Amino acid sequence: RKCINQIQRTRYLNAFITITEETAMEQAQRAHNRLRTGKPLGPLDGIPFSVKDNFCTENIETTCASSMLKGYIPPFNATVVQKLLDQGAVLVGKTNLDEFAMGSGSTDGVFGPVRNPWSYTTLYREQSTEDPDSDWLISGGSSGGSAAAVASLSSFLALGSDTGGSTRNPGSLCGVVALKPTYGLLSRHGLIPLVNSMDVPGIMTRSVHDAATVLRIMQGRDERDSTTIQAPSTPPSLPEHFDIRDIRVGIPKEYHALGLSQDTLDQWSRVATMFEQAGAQVQEVSLPHTQHSIVCYHVLCCCEVASNMARFDGLEYGHRSTVDSSTDAMYATTRHEGFNNVVRRRILSGNYFLLKSNYDRYFVKAQQMRRLITEDFTNVFRSGIDVLLTPTTLSDAVRYSDFIQEDNRTRSAQEDIFTQPVNMAGLPAVTIPTALSCRGLPIGLQLIGQTLQDWKLLTVAHWME
Ligand code: GLN
Repeated sequence: RKCINQIQRTRYLNAFITITEETAMEQAQRAHNRLRTGKPLGPLDGIPFSVKDNFCTENIETTCASSMLKGYIPPFNATVVQKLLDQGAVLVGKTNLDEFAMGSGSTDGVFGPVRNPWSYTTLYREQSTEDPDSDWLISGGSSGGSAAAVASLSSFLALGSDTGGSTRNPGSLCGVVALKPTYGLLSRHGLIPLVNSMDVPGIMTRSVHDAATVLRIMQGRDERDSTTIQAPSTPPSLPEHFDIRDIRVGIPKEYHALGLSQDTLDQWSRVATMFEQAGAQVQEVSLPHTQHSIVCYHVLCCCEVASNMARFDGLEYGHRSTVDSSTDAMYATTRHEGFNNVVRRRILSGNYFLLKSNYDRYFVKAQQMRRLITEDFTNVFRSGIDVLLTPTTLSDAVRYSDFIQEDNRTRSAQEDIFTQPVNMAGLPAVTIPTALSCRGLPIGLQLIGQTLQDWKLLTVAHWME
């Protein structure tokens, strides 16, 4: 009830697309009865959670923040959602995003932008001369609604999706823990795809410990997603005592990127020194192909988008245009009416890259580059490094009015410089809030781990927290 009230009280954040009050209260009542009789289903029984609106939820509208899917009511739950429900967790609502999860601001969905809860803290407001209605900050994206929901205490955990940083970016800007697990560790069944070869469900919580609990419950093979893998066995919770002196931390020199704010750089150095002083080995490493990752990601992303979005033809799902002069005309107008400019541009670019005459020049080249980016990580980890410490975003949250004024697409693309390479390599990574910037806004730092070493990654993150 308190979470539902908090969602209502913070409607101005625009974090939620659907509030599932009625079913939530029923689920909560059942959980309450179990807890009262001392028979909880597990650690998540009765815990309120929210889900990004690109995960299918049975009998609950699932829109991807697109006109194309308005009114689409899936007949099934995504596997990760079902696993949480099976544990007694209570679904309080579906959260806002960029249309089809394409973006880094949660500014591009059909339901309007998500506002960062930190826009309304006293610390930030004291520094602003304008009123909160014109001066507010982006939440980051594309899982901005989920991050805002956890940051504003509307739920204890939220699911996001992470294709190029969409869980870690808003997690960092809203000051919450955000985990992108190893590719394949969590099922993508029921997650409406953006880039199948990179998509991973993401976990947002208030602490690393909570993220570990949720990961443990959701991970593992799913016969409905052939890319899932067997989860390594893990203890019931993260170790409270572990020796940081056994850990080697790498600092990738190429991540001193153009546009990195002084505040973020300072935090990065501070935490590196903290590791060193505690006895961890900290050393500079090189990931030489980092500079090519944004271009490479965009070619691959657009190609998969061009293919994935073909299913939205007005016949099977959601929106259908009333133009019916011919089948082709119906397809075209449906897609014109249903998709925003960002989606349309990616479909067009993807089809261009995939033309027979362009295929080798773009798609094949990008795949080769993806392999080189992956090998950069492999080489660093093979040299004995356990985790990489990097920034998550270039700076703290920017104002919405600035975000949309600049060339939004360029800014949006650059924002992903620290997060995208991880998706291309399929590695686990987590962002942890570390400090406040001089504007009083959260700054997160990212730890990147080896494939299937999610637990070790979280152990180090827990130490750092
Ligand atoms: N910003 C990236 C994009 O627009 C990543 C999105 C994501 O991770 N879903 O493609």
